[in-house]
Amino acid sequence: MNKMSARQNLSKGQKAAAWFNSGGNVKNMNEPIGEAACPWWNCCYGLMEANRYGDAHPSDWVVDHKIPLAKGGTNNQCNLQAMHNACNNEKGDS
Ligand SMILES: [Zn+2]
Repeated sequence: MNKMSARQNLSKGQKAAAWFNSGGNVKNMNEPIGEAACPWWNCCYGLMEANRYGDAHPSDWVVDHKIPLAKGGTNNQCNLQAMHNACNNEKGDS
């Protein structure tokens, strides 16, 4: 297995920032709400639902690192975005 599980060890604030960075709304800057479009560059733009974090579901999402940790990216909120788990697996090096 070369991928971490869908459940990630990130804070509520980091998850909310990732959701926000993908165009989603957040409540109190702390809780993802509503819907957002998957930003993966491979023409996905599919629906993601805030309450599907970590679910195995077509509208699920996980936190993606824009610049992968393996390539020097950080857990800084600016480097996080929400993305489908399946798209994130395809992208690799999250
Ligand atoms: Zn996607």
